[in-house]
Amino acid sequence: MGADNQMTGEQWHPSACILCECNCGIEIQLDGRRFARIRGDKRHPSSAGYTCEKSLRLDHYQNGRHRLTTPLRRRADGEYEEIDWATAIDEIAARLTHVRATYGGDKIFFYGGGGQGNHLGAVYNRALQAALGVRYFSNALAQEKTGEMWVDGKLYGGHTKGDFEHAEAVVFVGKNPWQSHSFPRARPTLREIAKDPARTMIVLDPRRSETAAMADIHLQVRPGTDAWCLATMLAVIVQEDLVDHAFLAEHTIGTEPARAALAEVPIETYAQRCGVPAELIRTAARRIATAGSAAVYEDLGVQQGPNSTLVSYLDKLLWILTGNFGKPGAMFLHSTFAALAGASAGGSGGGDARRVRRTPVTGARIISGLVPCNSIAEEILTDHPDRLRAMWIDSANPAHSLADSGRFRRAMSALEMTVVVDVAFTETARQADYVLPAASQFEKWEMTFFNTEFPRNTVQLRPPVLDPLPGTLAEPEIYARLLRALGAVDSGVIADLTAAAKTGRGEFTTAFFAAVGQVPALLGVAPYLLYETLGATMPERQRGTAAVWGLAQLCAMAYPDAVRRAGHPDGNALFDAIIATPWGVAFTADGWEDVWTYVKRPDRRFTVDIPELTEQLRGLRTAEPFTDGEYPLVLSAGERRAFTANTIYRDPTWRRRDPAGALRVSPYDAQRLGLHDGGLARVTTAAGTAQAVVEISDMMQPGHVSLPNGLGVDHPDHGRVGVAPNELTSVELRDAFAGTPWHKHVPARVEAV
Ligand code: SF4
Repeated sequence: MGADNQMTGEQWHPSACILCECNCGIEIQLDGRRFARIRGDKRHPSSAGYTCEKSLRLDHYQNGRHRLTTPLRRRADGEYEEIDWATAIDEIAARLTHVRATYGGDKIFFYGGGGQGNHLGAVYNRALQAALGVRYFSNALAQEKTGEMWVDGKLYGGHTKGDFEHAEAVVFVGKNPWQSHSFPRARPTLREIAKDPARTMIVLDPRRSETAAMADIHLQVRPGTDAWCLATMLAVIVQEDLVDHAFLAEHTIGTEPARAALAEVPIETYAQRCGVPAELIRTAARRIATAGSAAVYEDLGVQQGPNSTLVSYLDKLLWILTGNFGKPGAMFLHSTFAALAGASAGGSGGGDARRVRRTPVTGARIISGLVPCNSIAEEILTDHPDRLRAMWIDSANPAHSLADSGRFRRAMSALEMTVVVDVAFTETARQADYVLPAASQFEKWEMTFFNTEFPRNTVQLRPPVLDPLPGTLAEPEIYARLLRALGAVDSGVIADLTAAAKTGRGEFTTAFFAAVGQVPALLGVAPYLLYETLGATMPERQRGTAAVWGLAQLCAMAYPDAVRRAGHPDGNALFDAIIATPWGVAFTADGWEDVWTYVKRPDRRFTVDIPELTEQLRGLRTAEPFTDGEYPLVLSAGERRAFTANTIYRDPTWRRRDPAGALRVSPYDAQRLGLHDGGLARVTTAAGTAQAVVEISDMMQPGHVSLPNGLGVDHPDHGRVGVAPNELTSVELRDAFAGTPWHKHVPARVEAV
């Protein structure tokens, strides 16, 4: 599979959309190297043929002038020169070795490791980290999800999701699934809920988003007041005694402090603060508490705004206090094929997991192993002796996606060495000392670790659709070459395991576990070890799948019963099924009674008391707004729209509408500020200023403006179109617990140009 001469004609090639975490199964028909037709793959066990319109334009990612085809090295004058792979690997290995020897491996920072669809390379990236002795890393989750992860860790030690397809009441908090999806077949599911009079959709959002417009109840809060609205809903549930006492008695400990704080909430006062009629909040709260089932989804609208970790806690109290867990239509915990981050912080089970890790310079809290994104530049731009000295960035564009792009660029310049691995010459690559061109996500075996489904959780290892663009390499090969250059594993170990792999899978399994049992340090570089040994027995282009064998073993050890229920007797059988089913396969099967086994505490109860957040909940009484006379508006920087995607779509011609990424303003503000549809406006924040085309939109309420995500990237033919949102954001605006940025709550002012 994958050779160009096989890739023309009527053949449909199974693959996946790489634009959001749903990773819908698709099939691609080729015309030479171009994607001629794309359709949903009905065989995909999760998406079952569904896609949204964004996936149909994936040729804009695959083919275009943005692609890199040779390693680049920055010269002293700032220009880039082409170098061959051998030179690049030798020089990078030598410079990494120098940084490690001079300052220690813990001064080399790693960022990224995959976007929405390419997580296989990250497994090998972690092997390089282990070989170098890296301690600090991060990725985009640390500017979105770490607050929720911290709360999850405290409550039950896992990740929850909702059964939206069957819930009687669904609640979306700062979430617009019509555009941002996040659960399978999002749009048909929303339509089904909207047309069923027995079901209720409740949306908490300052905008009248596409989802809010479909909702039965829209809690249109003032921007940044989500915590007051949620506290009011919970206060209604507590003060009207709508709590599920039997559920709390059987499945939780420590609900009293939160319930006591909620009993004190002044409902009318808080409703006024969030700008929603108290009676509407009461109606929503009563509906959730009395529904046969309810499921809740929070997303970036609240996770990138004030009080975000508290909001995550309140959001989870909504379904915990009403007993909506572990039954059809409610919330569940699930298995995981491979971790996207480290263990969740806090740890419901107690012990070592309660120890707080902090960054070496600023002491920022590290959650799930991830350094807060807003802290990265601060860990570099200082004369502190423990500052970071080098950075490795893989399949990520932090100079565009993290708060205050200017500061991040300065931080990259201050480092002694920076390397970027990517398919394109991104805004981040333009700051790096070395740029290594990766094969695209359709030119190699690839997979995603957004495996969060229930009752059958699925994984898809997709084969390449095309040969790699000449000059590019798949990430597993890039990391293997570097690890060879670093001499990461003794050649005798590799020779012995390769011989075992050539003998048979059973012999290899025994030999591999014996080797890592004898030398536990090999576990850190296990993906590389598998690539060199088991991978040597595979077809050359499939070699990167060797690490999946290791992940399948770990998965079968973690969930032996659930993996067997899905039809896989052991890890080897699971690996074989994954390889043989390119449109995806269920790796675990659970029933509703099994979800309790994922609670980390030995007694399988939720640990509800989180004193820090109960204190913050009480503090809402006196909290001040964040806008002022100089910056009276709230800018949402990075709104998801029909024609926005992440920055892997670099060619602006993919957008059929809203080509320049308009600044959306309410009719009230437009009139007040003298703005016209299609005219120009200047947006100014504490961090910077930008000009944008105006769109007057009923979606926005007075005082709230928005710019889309994914704009403002450089393209060789079209230049830079639209506003790069993080030229306007600040690292100082962040959550007190998790350090997550307030991209959706940037104080701003707007003037007509
Ligand atoms: S829902 Fe997400 S993964 Fe599915 S087609 Fe749309 S953008 Fe792609």
